[in-house]
Amino acid sequence: MNRRFLFAFFLLVSRTLFAAEDTQTGFRVVQERSADGVTLIMKSDYCVEFTVTLEATLTNMTSSRPVPFTVDAAGRSSFVLARFKQADKSRSWRYNYYFRWEYGGRRNSTENDADYAMPFGPGRYVVMQGPRGTFSHFAGSGSENAVDWDVPEGTIICAAREGRVVGVRDDSTVSGTDPKFKPLGNYIIIKHADGTFADYHHLQTDGAMVKIGDAVKVGQPIGLSGQTGFASKPHLHFMVFQAIDGKKVLSLPFRLKTDHGTFTEFIRGQAY
Ligand SMILES: [Zn+2]
Repeated sequence: MNRRFLFAFFLLVSRTLFAAEDTQTGFRVVQERSADGVTLIMKSDYCVEFTVTLEATLTNMTSSRPVPFTVDAAGRSSFVLARFKQADKSRSWRYNYYFRWEYGGRRNSTENDADYAMPFGPGRYVVMQGPRGTFSHFAGSGSENAVDWDVPEGTIICAAREGRVVGVRDDSTVSGTDPKFKPLGNYIIIKHADGTFADYHHLQTDGAMVKIGDAVKVGQPIGLSGQTGFASKPHLHFMVFQAIDGKKVLSLPFRLKTDHGTFTEFIRGQAY
């Protein structure tokens, strides 16, 4: 009997485009192949709070769980995503799969009842794009409630809320308004005690002042602002979010508390 085994797979991760970056984020799927199938194991080196969505196309194979599906890592750094097994032993089999991940487990609520400090040193800062802005904070998008602060390149970014650093990227050197730059921004991701996360985005190249695993206090300098990724000029994109699934996040409204007032609405061109 001429039995052919075909392996085919494609990887897609939502925050990265290139294989080399997998080592940086630490998120990857390892395949353990056997004569009649494969086991897909999700691995994460640095962050154990994340959500994965797996999609797959199977030919003459069954899956240990129906695809597509979404699963929370829930504190695990390594776990089996699925096992694909040959169905009819006399026929060849093949599979394609796509996995995508987002920081954070899925929460039961969308509450964000916390105070956030201005993510810079003392002073007033102008909003370049507020929630539901029409450049990139569209209603219904994952950045719906993000705020872009108009700050020059190299401005010291401070933690707006205490937490733990779970994601850092600062090796990107490019920016522009072409959508191809969307996954190429430098960032720091901080996990808060309530399971929400903050994204400090578009940092300068080599602009991170913290590393994964660091505990940070409110007001602590964490990095330098810049213009990397999808950006037309230097600014800090700040947002609080939680995962919806491995492909999408929900950005949450947040309450900014400063020494000159408390704000929950952010209007373009105004200083806070
Ligand atoms: Zn933005």
